[in-house]
Order: sequence, then C-alpha cells, then structure tokens
Amino acid sequence: MKNFIQEQHKVDCIEAIKTLISYPSYLREDHQGKTPFGDDIQAVLEKTLTICENLGMKSFIDPKGYYGYADYGEGEESLAILCHLDVVPPGNLDSWDTNPFEAIEKNEALYGRGSQDDKGPAMAALYAFKAVVDSGATFNKRVRFIFGTDEETLWRCLDRYNKLEEPSTMGFTPDAEFPLTYAEKGLLQVKLHGPGDQELRVNCGKSLNIVPDEAAYQGPLNVTLENELKSLGYEYQLSDGQVIVKGKAVHSKDAPEGVNAITRLVTALSSSIKNETLAFITEKLKDDATGQTIFGKIKDDISGPLTVNLATLSIDDKESTIGLDLRIPVTADKEEIVKKLTASAAEYQLNYEEYDYLASLYVPKDSLLITTLLDIYREKTGDKSDPLTTGGATFARTMKNCVAFGAVFPDSEVTFHMPNEKMTLRDIYNAMDIYAEAVYRLACK
Ligand SMILES: [Zn+2]
Repeated sequence: MKNFIQEQHKVDCIEAIKTLISYPSYLREDHQGKTPFGDDIQAVLEKTLTICENLGMKSFIDPKGYYGYADYGEGEESLAILCHLDVVPPGNLDSWDTNPFEAIEKNEALYGRGSQDDKGPAMAALYAFKAVVDSGATFNKRVRFIFGTDEETLWRCLDRYNKLEEPSTMGFTPDAEFPLTYAEKGLLQVKLHGPGDQELRVNCGKSLNIVPDEAAYQGPLNVTLENELKSLGYEYQLSDGQVIVKGKAVHSKDAPEGVNAITRLVTALSSSIKNETLAFITEKLKDDATGQTIFGKIKDDISGPLTVNLATLSIDDKESTIGLDLRIPVTADKEEIVKKLTASAAEYQLNYEEYDYLASLYVPKDSLLITTLLDIYREKTGDKSDPLTTGGATFARTMKNCVAFGAVFPDSEVTFHMPNEKMTLRDIYNAMDIYAEAVYRLACK
C-alpha cells in the first residue's frame, strides 16, 4: 500500500482543525440574522468552503445557508464524504480545563469542542483526499465533501440537501467509529396526545433521546405515592415538596439497559388514581423497553431488538402527552409498527403524532463499499474486529450505499459531547492514512 500522507498534509490538517474549532458553531436559532442556525455556523461553513477552494475544489453554498459542498474532478459517478460543522454547546465551562473554542495541543492531543465530533475527522478526511490528489493519482469519480450544519439537532441541512441535490454513487461519513457501521436502526419519535385531567399534574422528562432518570410529582397524593414507592422498593427523594422518583439515564438506543423513572412514577401513582394515559403506560408499555405487549417480539440478527423509551410525560387540565423514542431493527416494517402503536393508543383515547422519523441504514456486508473499507482498515491497523451495527444515527443513513467509517478507534477515549473533548494526534494521523487509501481505492483508477 502506498503512503499518501506527507508531513505537510499533517501540519495543514492540524492547522485547519484549529481554525474550525475557533468557531463556536452550536445551534442558536434565536439569532435574528438571515442564517438558519446562527451566524457562527454560517461563518464556519463559509470558512470550510474557502479551505476547500484553496485545495483546488469547486464549492457551492446553499443560498439559504443550510449546507455546502465542495467537488473535485468530473464525471457522473461520485464519492460523497459527509461531514458536519455544527457542534454541541460546551456545557458547563467550569468543567473545561481550556477554552473549548480555542484549540490547544497538549499531551499529544488536540483539545476543543468539535475536535472529535466532527471537525477533526472531517479535516482528517479532507487532507487525506488532498494527499491523494498530490500523489498524482487519476480520479475516475468525482469526490464531493458535503458539509452539514444541523447534525446535532434535526438534520434540516441534509433534508434540504437531499431535496435539492443529486444523490452520490457511494459514500462514507467520518462521524462514528472504526471499523465501520453498516446497519443503523430506524429512529421513530412519537407523541401521543390524550385528554387532560382535572386532578393530576405531571411534567417529566427532558429529551426524547434519553431514558429519564428523574420523574417528579407534587400534589395531594404525595403521601400515598411515597408509601407505594416504598412498598415497590423504588428509589426516590423529597425536595421542595416534590416526590422525585429516581431511575438510570442511558441513551434511548440502549433503553433496555436504563431504569425509566417515569414508568416507575406512573406505576406507583396508578394504584391510587384512575387515568387513561397512565393506564396505557402500565398496561401497554409496561416496564418493558422492547415493547412486546404492543408490538410482539421484534428483533433481527443484524441490528437487535426493537427498543421503546418512554421519554416524556406531561399531564395538565387540558391535555396529556406521552413522548416515545423507538429504534426499529433494519429488517422490521415501520408501517406495521406505526399501525400497532396507533391502534393500542386509540384504546386509551390517545392520538398518534409522528414527531421525527429517520429511516434505517443497511448496506450488506458483502457489498463492494464495505469489503473495500473493511480491508483497508484491517490492513492498516491489523485489527480484525467485525463491522458494527448501532441504534444511533449518523448522516450515512440519509444516502443510499453510504456507511459510517471512523474516526474513533476501538481504543480511543470517547470524549465527544463532553468537557475537554479531544482527538489524539495519533488518531488524526492514523485516520488520515486510512481515509487516503479509501479515497484512492473508491475514487481513483
Ligand atoms: Zn457527529
């Protein structure tokens, strides 16, 4: 195998990552500007496209600012590399040892928000591509770097891209782990709406992505609830007149491994209160994050079981709303699942509303794309681990024949979305090496 990466590519790559990290490009929709996701996201998008132009690519920016891309070469067929330039907010700054938006090189790593997700991997792929160009290789496909700006939230960038732009022949996204991810479950987020309740007030759960680790109740049933929690052996605490039931938070994709505080609260409440919404939870959802009472047993060998997370619950005098997050195995039929859930909910006067849906990703293991990428990874690292499947979501699923490929190695410390996010120099250089070979084998003669 050729060694495409020269010293200068490494230097330039690090410089580019530092530049991109200096933009605090997390979502700010309250900006009154003309940009959809905030001025910093717009600025980092423009800067990235300038970098691409300087590498000899032709760039395009969506006039509305949702996405941009940069092309190299000609031809009908194209290899897409899907990256994103938005980041999650820094969180509590006291937890950071350094300024999250000023990249610092120390302990053989680059620190800063976005270093691992996804500015570091994106630039590693870009300068790997540049190294292949510099090697004099002849390209038989167009290479297109697509830059999304709304990956951490609602993917409105790629939704718009796919409405307006041509599909690529194949692609990968450097926004997950090595070796590669070839199957991602379908993601279905749902709200069930029912009638209000004159007596009961609850408002639990913060995000559809997380199994709730707290569910609070305050009202006339405090004492009864406490007794019931004690007899069920459920953990809780008292604070400011509230009874706060405890659970264990995990990502929704791993719902069966969590402990759902809302389910526990509802179970404890429902012995002393009659309410259809609560009854739906105790009789249909039950304490079963694979939803077998409603859906039967749904599972496949590729991606595992269906998971259901009861993520939010609110009840007031006007309305009750249940928020659910479902991860659907790649071979399961989404419409069938919707039908069953709609019918079950209707028995309890609950109406189905689809809040968000991302189709699953599945590229067969024996496809050319997967065998090529997997061979490269194995030859370069000697690591023979199997390709991955996940309930998580990457941009790969927005395109046919696209997989998630790196850049977190099996032995890398996972720091994305956390304080002191970092990517080690070793990981950056190794990823560049792998991506260069991938660009070469997929897009060159
Ligand atoms: Zn990411």
